[in-house]
Amino acid sequence: SSISNKIAAGEVIERPQSVVKELVENAIDAGSTVITVEVVEAGLNKIKVTDNGSGIQEDDLELMFMRHATSKIENDHDLFHIRSLGFRGEALASIASVSKVRVITCYDGKIGRQIDVIDGEIVNKTLAHARQGTEISVEELFYNTPARLKYMKSLHTELGKITDIMNRFIMSFPHIRFTLVSDEKVLINSSGNGNMQEAMSKIYGMKIAQDLVEINGETGDYKVTGYIAKPEHTRSNRHYMSLFINGRYIKNFMLTKAILEGYHTLLPVGRFPVLAIHITMDPALVDVNVHPTKQEVRLSKEPQLMSLISQLIKEKIWQQNL
Ligand code: ADP
Ligand code: MG
Repeated sequence: SSISNKIAAGEVIERPQSVVKELVENAIDAGSTVITVEVVEAGLNKIKVTDNGSGIQEDDLELMFMRHATSKIENDHDLFHIRSLGFRGEALASIASVSKVRVITCYDGKIGRQIDVIDGEIVNKTLAHARQGTEISVEELFYNTPARLKYMKSLHTELGKITDIMNRFIMSFPHIRFTLVSDEKVLINSSGNGNMQEAMSKIYGMKIAQDLVEINGETGDYKVTGYIAKPEHTRSNRHYMSLFINGRYIKNFMLTKAILEGYHTLLPVGRFPVLAIHITMDPALVDVNVHPTKQEVRLSKEPQLMSLISQLIKEKIWQQNL
């Protein structure tokens, strides 16, 4: 119902950044290699995400705004072996309950279809341009939930949060070409050439380019790769540390602790490293179904992963500082 969608929206869609996150995740799940995000007034007026992915078949187009409609999992087994970023089937239903949405999509390179959705209902259906992939526009976010709108910070802050999530996507998927356009100005564009050092230097400043140390190791269950900046590039908060599990940007207290332990005495009190670490593991070992935003995770065999990470960092960082 429209009420339960609005309640769910409260958990999933907090601000324009959440819309960008969910739409980009869908574009990634659709196998896109080029993803463009355009925002007007920090996304409060309009957010448009264009991808060159699989497109959406006609039947799915009718269903995609229904709560729990997902094409990504079919049974309980799938739920514990999640390989896609989405799986709960509630993002689009939530977004559509607090904004006006237009989808233009083409899955066969031949016929384009457009639907317009207001209050979760399809109000218009037509043929449209046939460019392979999908374009989703979200307008007038929170127009019908004024209380939520009041909680928005300044446009500057909201745009900063969008930039932040785009940068995490770039580090998470360096093989995808991302562009962020804000009020018709290009704010971010990544090359999509897969080079992590290049991506990180573009995000954190060219000064770190020469000082990124490669991290690389594995145990039976986990593979860890990434780059960590030498201690002279430490920052005053944790914001510059990115952890990705199977491509998903996550926050995890224990893994962060493992990283900091790895740095040990090289990090003065209150200083934190610049780093991006990718962890690859069997999806059965990680539970991402902890919170609607899918950013918190529960790990099996956490101690094993922690010691692998702190060990790798210790070795690398000390080698560099001999
Ligand atoms: P979930 O991602 O959890 O499946 P969403 O509400 O985010 O749920 O999306 C619902 C469905 O809409 C997806 O399962 C997918 O089938 C379809 N979809 C959404 N965006 C795209 C896209 N950009 N390309 C292809 N399919 C999409
Ligand atoms: Mg999704």
